[in-house]
Amino acid sequence: VRRADRLIKGGTVVTASGLGPADVAVAEGRVLAVGEGLSLRAKEVLDVGGAYVFPGFIDAHIHPVYVDDMGVSSICAAHGGVTTVMHFVPVEPGESLPHVLASFRENGTQASVLDFALHGALFDPASQAQEIADAMALGVTSFKLFLSYAKLNRMTDDYQLMRTLDILGKAGGLAMVHAENGLAMEYLEAKFRDEGRDPAGTFEATRPGILEAEAMNRAAAMAQVAGCSLYLPHVSSHEGATAVRRLRRTGQRVYAEVCPHHLTLTQQAVLDLGAPAKIGPPLRDDEDRAVLWRALAAGVLDAVASDHAPKAKSPGDDFSEAAYGAPQTETMPVLTYDGGVAAGRLTLPRMAQVLGENPARIFGIYPQKGTLQAGSDADLVVWDPAARWTITHATQHSNAPYTLYEGRRVLGQPVLVMQRGEPVVQGGELVGGTGRGRFLPTKAGNVEPAELQPKGGTWPRK
Ligand SMILES: [Zn+2]
Repeated sequence: VRRADRLIKGGTVVTASGLGPADVAVAEGRVLAVGEGLSLRAKEVLDVGGAYVFPGFIDAHIHPVYVDDMGVSSICAAHGGVTTVMHFVPVEPGESLPHVLASFRENGTQASVLDFALHGALFDPASQAQEIADAMALGVTSFKLFLSYAKLNRMTDDYQLMRTLDILGKAGGLAMVHAENGLAMEYLEAKFRDEGRDPAGTFEATRPGILEAEAMNRAAAMAQVAGCSLYLPHVSSHEGATAVRRLRRTGQRVYAEVCPHHLTLTQQAVLDLGAPAKIGPPLRDDEDRAVLWRALAAGVLDAVASDHAPKAKSPGDDFSEAAYGAPQTETMPVLTYDGGVAAGRLTLPRMAQVLGENPARIFGIYPQKGTLQAGSDADLVVWDPAARWTITHATQHSNAPYTLYEGRRVLGQPVLVMQRGEPVVQGGELVGGTGRGRFLPTKAGNVEPAELQPKGGTWPRK
């Protein structure tokens, strides 16, 4: 008789391939078996009484360098149901890419409550692109470049973009490109400022969706020339989603991500909240939101990730000078469930796919992560689909002084979050500890987009 450490009984297991009643047996941190009415002995049996059991969610887009460090952001993520986090490591001009990555890897190993991977964010590709091979030897295979943020000195010009894609393509890594036309946006911002227009009220107009689509197309054209896989984070507009759909028809290895705030908020939040809702790319309109949900359901957008970038902002701050970003990772799963599944826009298997299997496949950590099958890490979330609650800053774990979702009534809640067979969050309380997270080397950019598509019979009801 096989012996399990834990048996999670009575749940409905949801993966990208489908859902159904099944028990999950865990031994030595891995899934031993998944099936209905498993008969095996276990040291501990948990009856989850009809709740959903998802593979642990993956948040592939976290910035651990503002008010939440790698430890705190992993705690925020775990409370939302995430079991794998991927951090952007900013590498400033003059810094050595492998050196900075190695120090974040060390820091994460000590501070993180969750398993984690790293992306390099190249603020100076002219000096850093040639270090990519050394970085990849450390287990980091995805690198972000910025076509935006000219004024912040983070913008990569087309020469360095082409050069970096060339180097990265040859090395077999994945380029992540923040696709917005930085200089065009700077001009529009300056023009509106000179005209005395309200910077919050004109924020979206200074960075319209068509400038996102332009930068995506430009990056994709060069990635095609270089033979480099391309990941487009935070697709925010209907023009952007349309560009992705067209690129995908060419068969190019282009992957696309959408963030919870672009799915669930509009620029009304900027008018209501001011600086705290300043995010790049910006919050847009209801039409964009609707298109993003449809594109996510239909397989044009592949993954949901949070772009967790919490800053100490408040509504009275000078909007023009305010930093970009907001706390997002803790609310990401519930907003995807509430706005997606509960609203009839996403099927449960598609939710498991865009928050688990797809990011795992894109970054090359599947099937260790992103699914529940024999041999996978026993990372799982027991999800109560009937829990109704109200998001409020007081119960969130970020050091940011606000949440953009204050007062929002939502459906669905993680009741148990388990990593490698051990509880991390149980009944809303952190029970895991720092130093339990392991570094995950990636092999990013090697999956064909066809493998990220919704699987049979999973089309949304509307
Ligand atoms: Zn970005």
